[in-house]
Order: sequence, then C-alpha cells, then structure tokens
Amino acid sequence: LRKTLIAAAAVIVALGASGFAERPPGARPVSGTDEAGLWAEVDKAEVQARTNGDINSDKALNDYVTGVACRVAKEYCSDIRVYVMDRPVFNAQMAPNGYSEVWSGLMLRATSEAEFAFVISHEVTHFAENHSVEAMRAQRNRANVALALQVGVAIAGVAAAAGAGTVEGFNSIMDSTRTLMDVIYLSSISSFFAYSRSQENEADMKGFDRAVAAGYEPAAASALWRDRIAETDASDFDKVRRGDTAINAFRSHPLDDERLKAIAAKSAGKPPGDLGQDRYRAAIRPHLSDWLRADLRRRDYGETLHIIDRLTKSGEDLGTLNYFRGEAFRLRQRDPADLDRSLAAYALAVEQADAPAAAWRELGEMHRKGKNAAAARLAFEAYLSKTPDAEDAWLVKDTLKGL
Ligand SMILES: [Zn+2]
Repeated sequence: LRKTLIAAAAVIVALGASGFAERPPGARPVSGTDEAGLWAEVDKAEVQARTNGDINSDKALNDYVTGVACRVAKEYCSDIRVYVMDRPVFNAQMAPNGYSEVWSGLMLRATSEAEFAFVISHEVTHFAENHSVEAMRAQRNRANVALALQVGVAIAGVAAAAGAGTVEGFNSIMDSTRTLMDVIYLSSISSFFAYSRSQENEADMKGFDRAVAAGYEPAAASALWRDRIAETDASDFDKVRRGDTAINAFRSHPLDDERLKAIAAKSAGKPPGDLGQDRYRAAIRPHLSDWLRADLRRRDYGETLHIIDRLTKSGEDLGTLNYFRGEAFRLRQRDPADLDRSLAAYALAVEQADAPAAAWRELGEMHRKGKNAAAARLAFEAYLSKTPDAEDAWLVKDTLKGL
C-alpha cells in the first residue's frame, strides 16, 4: 500500500509539471517517466561523488552539516544527502534526487550557522519545488540532459582519478584543467541546473521562510550574499571585479541587487533568531587551515584576504588567520609594502596560542630578508623548539648558522 501511495504521489508530481506543486516527502518518480530518467542519471553522478577524491569524510563535520540540513529540510530530511567536497570555490548544489553538494569554499566563507542554513534552505527549496524537473521540461529534451550529465560525470571521474591522494594533486588538477573543468564539466552541468528567474525567486523566498521557521536569524539571509559581492570587489583581477557575482561555481544562481533587496526586505521587522556563530566556527575550525591553504592556490590574494578579514571579525583563530594573512601578502608581493604587511601578520600570529609553527619560520625568513639577524634567530629558534622533528629542521638549523 505504501508503495502504491508513493507511486500515486509521484504521479501527482508528474501531472503537476506545469504548476509549482511541492514534492511530497519520500516521493520517487514513476518508472518510465522523463523524471525517472533524470533521477537515474543523477543517481550515477551521486555514486561518482561518493568515491570522489575531493570528498570530505570527517565524520564530525558531516554530522554537523547533515544536522543543519535536516533542521531546515524538516519533512525532506530523509530525502536529501549533503556531501562536503573540498574544493576552494563557493558552491552549493541540489540534484533532483536529493543528492546535494556543498563545497568547502562556501563553508569557509560563511561566518555563522544561520548564513550556512539559508544557503541550504535555498537549495532544499529547489528540491521541494521540483525545480530541476520543471526546468528540464521547460527548456530541453531528456537526451540533452542525459548527455550533459554523462559528460560531467566522466570529467569528474577523470579529475578524481588524477587528483586522488594529496591535496597538492588535486590542486594541480584544478590549475591545469581549470579551463577544461570550467568549459565542459561546469557548463554542461550548469545547462541542466540553470533555473529560471522565477524559480530562483521562489527558492529565495520560500527558502527564507523555511530557515526562519527553523529558528534562524533572519538578518543572516542576505549577509552571505552581500559578502559575495564585497569579495568580488576585493579581487586582485580587473576582469573578476568587472564581472557579475554568482552565488555558485556553475554561475547558475546569478546575484543582483534586486534579489538582495527582496531578501533584505523579507527580514525587515522580523524578531531575532538563532545565529549560531560559535557553533559554526567550532565545526569548521579543524578544517580552517586546509581550506585557507587551498584558497591561496587560486592565486586571487585580494579575495583570500577578504575572506580572512571577515573571519577575523569574531576575534577567534587569530594565530591561524594571521599566519594565512602573512602567507597571502608574502605570495602576492604586489609592492614592497606587501612584505611589510606579511611580516606584521606573522608577528601577530606568533603571539597567539593557535599559531601554526610555520608562522615562526616565516617570521624568521622575513627578518632574515630584512637583515634583522637577532629577530630572525629568535624566530627560527622558536620554530625549532615548537617542531624539533620538522622535515625542514636541518634547513632552518643551517640558516641559523649563517646568520
Ligand atoms: Zn538557486
């Protein structure tokens, strides 16, 4: 009986193609329909995602993300599966079968659980409202969608195989095949995930209501979007600054003033809710260093510095954040002042309990370059006492001798 009911519910979903009928929780498409074909394709993509080298398998982080997703998804909690992918790009995606990806680039940029929850809620709304199926029926035939997804899955598979193992491996893939990824993988998938303006609006509005109903702080709804624009403005590259800001890697969620105003208007006058700032930072803290290091490899130091500045506002993780601030200035070296800024940041970092040992080494390097032998010696000695077994300990000892 349950199966029959689910099938009947799915038929209703199928019949309601032209409307904006909500998907009944637990509904699966009727076999033989175009929707079933679509699900079969994204099921394959999901299998690929599970074995992808970029997947973040930290249980604590995954439990946390699933918890937030279920808090906003409520009745759809058991329909959706959120995977965290370690990719230094702002992205969240929901497939019609409930398979969802959140990339570390997004998690790094959010500063509270509420900000994160509004993004998830937006994506859950695309799922609940069956937007993918609507878009498919409105815009293209099944063969095109199947082809686009197969190409996407194949490319993702190649990238995963080549990038398996170290973070370095993945990043060299990201760098060398960046164009390939962008042109083939991202755009083929985006042709399928491209929602209409009215669907985006619906995801914004109903997504907002869903997250507020779950108790989240309404003002957080537009905060992360506003910051997307501010980060674009902070880019080192003219082309990026002049371009549009998108809220995901697929550029299928365009962001403009009108959308921002509509979201901000909805939050006006609403009673305050749960922001979850400390909870969120505690959840991402174990990954901050890895994610910041990966972000530096994008080589847009203006954007990385913007991210670091935003994370610094809470006054936490100052050792880690100042170390990476130093790294960003050291790597950028746009002008001599960047070296001074780098030194200043390392000097701030080493005053903090959470400073990575490398902050002392880099501080020593900066002092050595600045012909400040005494300060360099102190920093190098501190580095060696923090990590006597460091792989480069011999090198630092050698440098010390030459001071
Ligand atoms: Zn969207």
